[in-house]
Amino acid sequence: MLGLGIESTAHTFSCAVIEKKGNKGKILSDVKKIYRPANGEGIHPREASRHHIENSASVLSECLREAKTTIKEMDLVSYAAGPGLGPCLRVGAVVARSLASFYKIPIYPVNHAIGHIELGKLLTGARNPLVLLVSGGHTMLLAFLNKQWRVFGETLDITLGQLLDQFGRSIGFASPCGKDIEELASTSSNYVTLPYSVKGNDVSFSGLLSATKSAAKKSKVDACYSLQETAFAMISEAVERALSFTCKRELMIVGGVAANKRLSEMLQDVCKRHKCKFFVVPLRYAGDCGSQICWTGLLESQVKNGVLLKDTFVTQSWRLDSVKVNY
Ligand code: AMP
Ligand code: MG
Repeated sequence: MLGLGIESTAHTFSCAVIEKKGNKGKILSDVKKIYRPANGEGIHPREASRHHIENSASVLSECLREAKTTIKEMDLVSYAAGPGLGPCLRVGAVVARSLASFYKIPIYPVNHAIGHIELGKLLTGARNPLVLLVSGGHTMLLAFLNKQWRVFGETLDITLGQLLDQFGRSIGFASPCGKDIEELASTSSNYVTLPYSVKGNDVSFSGLLSATKSAAKKSKVDACYSLQETAFAMISEAVERALSFTCKRELMIVGGVAANKRLSEMLQDVCKRHKCKFFVVPLRYAGDCGSQICWTGLLESQVKNGVLLKDTFVTQSWRLDSVKVNY
């Protein structure tokens, strides 16, 4: 079975083709173009959606060419219906609806966060993990029970990705800034004290953001290092408690921030203490990409034949713990 997946929730417009045989999936192509705001600025939803409109045709053509296939060969098309930025989501939905109606292909709206998790499971082989989803849009600890992902902890304010991006922009980096911060942080080992805020199993990052901006006035390098150490230690504490509570034997990290080596290092220590297997989504598929949406659409096709065009939708806030997973 061949699927086409379209991702356009925020800064990334991406298309991917995956071939599914039984419960195995082979990514035949995954092409993306990322909208990059000017240094120091955040995502402007209208500008990002314009970027997606301008690049959608070329990304789609390149994706099909790389997979050595055509639209007519597709058994389904899936698109990220939320959560995300309204103007951006609409671009992916319009492309998917146009293809579905013209070529008479079944269409599937997919929850973006579930896309991160399902692709993570496919690529790592994790079976029943505690999931840490850390990205631009999410900071959540999740476990699956009775056909639904359940939240064991989350951010009370900004996400881990927003923390890194907002701090990075304040010191002049271009968004997304996580990689630049990681590089700068690796050149320091001088910890400056920053606020550490774990409440129950939830985390709060806004005080940490303000304090790190102040610390950066003395030393950007030390601020980057201390920011990572503090934020990742908070996450590790929440993960450790959730592992004890859920007795999971696997931990999987997904989302753009999963690309960070220091975060993996700290979580690996946690896993060693809990005799738990550690999985991290491969770097190339950590950030938003069409494969996440494509694979989830293919999984959904096991239990339903798509939705009617009139029932396709986009929704800016669509929590993953409200989605019934029936496959
Ligand atoms: P996503 O929303 O899943 O595409 O993830 C994007 C987020 O991942 C942004 O906030 C980036 O700053 C962050 N990110 C990407 N690479 C890294 C890295 N090496 N370290 C930390 N954060 C990263
Ligand atoms: Mg994402």
